[in-house]
Amino acid sequence: MSGSTSFEGSSFEGSYGGDASRLQDDSILECKVCWYRYDPEQGDDVWQIEPGTPFSQLPDHWRCPQCDGAKKQFMVVR
Ligand SMILES: [Zn+2]
Repeated sequence: MSGSTSFEGSSFEGSYGGDASRLQDDSILECKVCWYRYDPEQGDDVWQIEPGTPFSQLPDHWRCPQCDGAKKQFMVVR
């Protein structure tokens, strides 16, 4: 083991952290509070997000439909 890899800040693997450039168009993200999953193929009825909308294209005011958590607390599942 070589521990020479340096990380910026405290971000860890899998976290989205508000950086949409890390996301694929078909990325599925999961709320770390209530485990709600946003699947781009399904969109989101609560916020009237059309199916096929990537997570990165969600409006800034979009929040978890279940717990009202902020977008950036979502974790990348795939
Ligand atoms: Zn949630």
